[in-house]
Amino acid sequence: MRNYSEIENIVIIGSGPAGYTAAIYAARANLKPLLITGFEKGGIPGGQLMTTTFVENYPGFPNGIKGPELMNLFKDQAIRWGTTLLEIDAEEINLKTKPFSIKTKNELIQAHSIIIATGARANKLGVPHEKEFWSKGISACAICDGATPQFRNEELAVIGGGDSACEEAVYLTKFGSKVHLLVRSNHLKASAAMVDRVKNNDQIMIHWETELIDVQGDEWLNKLTIKRKGQLNNETINARGVFYAIGHTPNTEFLNGHLKQNSKGYLITKDGRPETSIDGVFAAGDVADSEWRQGITAAGSGCKAALAAERWLSKNNLASIISRGSKEPEKTKREGEIETSNENNFNFESLWQRGSYALRKLYHESKKPLVVIYTSSNCGPCHILKPQLKRVIEEFEGKVQAIEINIEDEQEIAKQADVVGTPTVQLFKSKTLIKQWKGVKQRHEFKNAIIKILEETSK
Ligand code: NDP
Repeated sequence: MRNYSEIENIVIIGSGPAGYTAAIYAARANLKPLLITGFEKGGIPGGQLMTTTFVENYPGFPNGIKGPELMNLFKDQAIRWGTTLLEIDAEEINLKTKPFSIKTKNELIQAHSIIIATGARANKLGVPHEKEFWSKGISACAICDGATPQFRNEELAVIGGGDSACEEAVYLTKFGSKVHLLVRSNHLKASAAMVDRVKNNDQIMIHWETELIDVQGDEWLNKLTIKRKGQLNNETINARGVFYAIGHTPNTEFLNGHLKQNSKGYLITKDGRPETSIDGVFAAGDVADSEWRQGITAAGSGCKAALAAERWLSKNNLASIISRGSKEPEKTKREGEIETSNENNFNFESLWQRGSYALRKLYHESKKPLVVIYTSSNCGPCHILKPQLKRVIEEFEGKVQAIEINIEDEQEIAKQADVVGTPTVQLFKSKTLIKQWKGVKQRHEFKNAIIKILEETSK
């Protein structure tokens, strides 16, 4: 447990490419940075690349790399060099007095310098029935939710005309029968390569100068009302899913106006540099960049912010440098994917297995609480949640078991379980569903629910 009564050299807030790169540089400068990853506000830890399929423009990966995989590599590198991660949201920050202070749900952290790298989050449209059908047909992440059974072979729609919209439209053609791309203007602002992919895909129909007016449905969305420019009457599309890809808003609310922002809320820094309006506070990545917003530019700005913070700390005589036992930290080890269980390799006592065979066996025959995590291969949040959940399961030392179900491979199971997005976690005891969680949750939520069941069983 880290002692937060010490004043930290550098606290980095945010865990996208900017935050992790800043952490790698600060850690290698022996400044033992603390990185607050963020958790729920402004999206999941790891930033926007956690909800991207293939990143094909990040240098060093000639064949592309999955966004979540790239972010896991960033994270491993930051940890390997001595970054401490705190998986929680920064809720409030005080930059008026020095040292600066940052409040999370559980801690009050003091820091000589801070790097803000909180990125930006997906915008919503705010159409009248949006709340009612959110997660019941409306999503802001095709990559996370596209594989949901309700979307299979159905008409789907994407709103927007940028790279995200085009990428998502192409991705959704793997699942839907047809994808409508609703573009409010008469052009796509996406890169030329992305535009070509959309235009060459027969399953995508582009609707120019068209806006979503509202959505309808019963239990699940089944109709979109749209308006074409210059037409008096609205039209409908019988779509079962609509995916928003309409840009982002920087995550700056927790700063409470302490730092200068532009009219769109992006942090203002010195021209081409990471210094913000307060001495000792630096900004990196999308939170201060409304223009370039690329993984590589975010990483570059994270590097600049860490170097600037290091210089600032030493100029002000504030750095407390750690000394390392060995120059070269231990190499990181990556966890391999586990095999899907079948009648040959199924193990009744195993803590974590994969696939419907193991699920059926344990569901019907085991007396222990059973945790089922529904994932899909490109789901960034699933990559965050799985190791967290594994740690929880291990802590119960065999009293609880878990099964992982990939909903792309096991559509029938996902349908029967009413799973409408990934990650979804269900907790069963004696064939009864006790609790269900959607999205990434903190470890203690799963832990408390399992403890409750175990206590009730032992009565
Ligand atoms: P962008 O801001 O680039 O695009 C947003 C799109 O949504 C625009 O077409 C915009 O329309 C439209 N839009 C905004 N508000 C509304 C609204 N209320 N109703 C309807 N349409 C609306 O965001 P992206 O998320 O697409 O991209 C962000 C950055 O990330 C970009 O720099 C992009 O290049 C990058 N990116 C790169 C990827 C890759 O290389 N693989 C993948 C995804 C993103 P209008 O054009 O009229 O303003």
